[in-house]
Amino acid sequence: MAKWDSSGSNLAFQLPQWMQIQLTEQKQAEFNKRPGKIGRRSFSRSISQSSTDSFSSAPSESDSSEDEGTPRDKVQKNSKGSSDFCIKNIKQADFGRREIEIAEQEMLALVALRKRAQGEKPLSGAKIVGCTHITAQTAVLIETLAVLGAQCRWAACNIYSTQNAVAAALAEAGFSVFAWKGESEYDFWWCIDRCVNLEGWQPNMILDDGGDLTHCIYKKYPHVFNKIKGIVEESVTGVHRLYQLSKAGKLCVPAMNVNDSVTKQKFDNLYCCRESILDGLKRTTDVMFGGKQVMICGYGEVGKGCSAALKALGAIVYVTEIDPICALQACMDGFRLVKLSEVIRNVDIVITCTGNKNVVRREHLDRMKNGCMVCNMGHSNTEIDVASLRMPELTWERVRSQVDHIIWPDGKRIILLAEGHLLNLSCSTVPTFVLSITATTQALALIELYNAPEGRYKQDVYLLPKKMDEYVASLHLQTFDAHLTELTDDQAKYLSLNKNGPFKPNYYRY
Ligand code: NAD
Repeated sequence: MAKWDSSGSNLAFQLPQWMQIQLTEQKQAEFNKRPGKIGRRSFSRSISQSSTDSFSSAPSESDSSEDEGTPRDKVQKNSKGSSDFCIKNIKQADFGRREIEIAEQEMLALVALRKRAQGEKPLSGAKIVGCTHITAQTAVLIETLAVLGAQCRWAACNIYSTQNAVAAALAEAGFSVFAWKGESEYDFWWCIDRCVNLEGWQPNMILDDGGDLTHCIYKKYPHVFNKIKGIVEESVTGVHRLYQLSKAGKLCVPAMNVNDSVTKQKFDNLYCCRESILDGLKRTTDVMFGGKQVMICGYGEVGKGCSAALKALGAIVYVTEIDPICALQACMDGFRLVKLSEVIRNVDIVITCTGNKNVVRREHLDRMKNGCMVCNMGHSNTEIDVASLRMPELTWERVRSQVDHIIWPDGKRIILLAEGHLLNLSCSTVPTFVLSITATTQALALIELYNAPEGRYKQDVYLLPKKMDEYVASLHLQTFDAHLTELTDDQAKYLSLNKNGPFKPNYYRY
């Protein structure tokens, strides 16, 4: 593993041989043979979500076979006789395998990682306990980690998001998966417990999304940390918890904050939302966007993505902001910066993207016009004051799954989507390609922490070295048959850069 041990400094970080990309390699056959047809995915994704958040993926064959009873009461075996898993129904494995294969078509960076690292096996000896959404995309990640040498045990980080058929396919492939769609709160913690509390097997790496797994180990099995080399955390919430632990001097292992990696934030938040906002609105309401007046609250990454998508389809977009910098960006991008109260009577759609609370309140909802749609793209369901709509004078009418009409005494209706929960995660699919970027970042963060020499990382929270962010991007660039320009020696010297990167200082904002 010496190749992982080159330096403690991010800027001086050296990629191991197998990760170093030659420009000529960018046209590798595997990328050129990108399949043309991608089938429908019953998706879910992994971004920060608390375990109890409402979350439903698009309907899939896998979810239609509702077995009775809790899987905890069933003894199931895979075809090799193993029963070290707990899922809904092992018979769904074939269908789940097809879902995983479809996801693989858009996750070629992970497939490439498998090929590049196969000889070296940078995760050889790693015992990873994971707690993420269990979806086809996660399955591609888990299977990649296994190819790189890791043993994995996995639970779901959300009680609604597991794709049962995918969990079955993983169990059939020999992975110890403990998850099913519609777990109770008890099941949720039971599944996590089954991943951690096992005689003869102790994890040495944690991959968490939301911090529940880490929290459980801290509370119930603190001795496990003796062997843990590091935690990789994806979500805003989980990262926040880690920083709190670190601040209190209670973080006893190094942790990698994947949420704030450039390759996560600038792609997941911006590009994913740019595509999935339209999908979420269409699936729920069949709305036509051209000429509609749309209010976007918050012009951060998510707001920028949503605004761009709606503008491109001919909508008239207004933006609200509290931060003059983001507000100026909105103006320069050609959006009208307003206060919500100024346009609330006229708009057709209101979308919150702030991560804040009570952005759309009853006073705004009262003034909206008949038929106005209201939805949220932020992490939690706090942005729209939905509680203020649960009043005796208002009538709720469920018109479709995730679509409610709220009717005022004078007959005015507003259309509330997903009861104020994240629209795209609740009502639509999320592009696999974006998840591939995040999953590749997670895989590299695990490899980095697992192989880091003593002393490179202390008991603190770190960002992935920039060089690795760049590597994740390079792997995905190849999907597009894009051709990067190489610095000449002269140019590299002029800019004081290494020709192989990193190309930007850590403070660069992209
Ligand atoms: P961000 O911090 O970049 O942007 C939020 C913006 O909202 C900021 O510019 C802030 O100034 C502004 N804001 C805060 N309060 C406001 C208010 N009362 N009125 C108007 N503007 C206000 O964050 P982001 O990356 O854009 O993420 C926003 C939210 O979306 C977060 O909760 C994040 O977790 C979530 N998120 C959702 C998805 C998804 O798929 N739906 C993906 C990534 C992130």
